[in-house]
Amino acid sequence: MNRRNWLQGLLAAAAGSALSGTAAAAAAPQSKEIEALQKNWQTLLASGTNVPSPTEKLKLSNDEWRKRLDKMQYNVLREDGTERAGSSPLDNEKRPGVFACAGCDLPLFTSEMKYDSRTGWPSFFTTIPAVFETKKDFHLLLPRTEYHCTRCGGHHGHIFDDGPKPTGMRYCNNGVALKFIPKSGRA
Ligand SMILES: [Zn+2]
Repeated sequence: MNRRNWLQGLLAAAAGSALSGTAAAAAAPQSKEIEALQKNWQTLLASGTNVPSPTEKLKLSNDEWRKRLDKMQYNVLREDGTERAGSSPLDNEKRPGVFACAGCDLPLFTSEMKYDSRTGWPSFFTTIPAVFETKKDFHLLLPRTEYHCTRCGGHHGHIFDDGPKPTGMRYCNNGVALKFIPKSGRA
């Protein structure tokens, strides 16, 4: 290699690293956007709505849960059931607002955290902070990450790693386990 080629090679390498530097810089604001969605979730809450906090635990007996929930809600939230894909109208809910736990009203997601995964279940790429706990379940033999409401313990769904960037997460949620509170205040 003569000196001229060597210099060109050096310049090309420098340009390459400058490009990858740009790509890394472009990804960073996206992660910041996720943080902002989490931090500012209350901007999607209808004004005047009183919601509980994750630390106010709600513990009820199975009989009390049966009275409070309908059959399908009880099956999903209290017995780790799964609704039929495509059965929940919330899968197509696109209005601004907040998705809360159908068992205990704890806000879990906002409309800005939702995306269309085309699976037939309401899907979210992140959550309101500190509202879920997880455990591994083996119901389908392969281990899956189950998540449940930290306030009432109600089962909501499973987390998969095929979600959109930058989180790459898909919270696959049963629609019957959620209630939607539109920001407009009109149901
Ligand atoms: Zn709950």
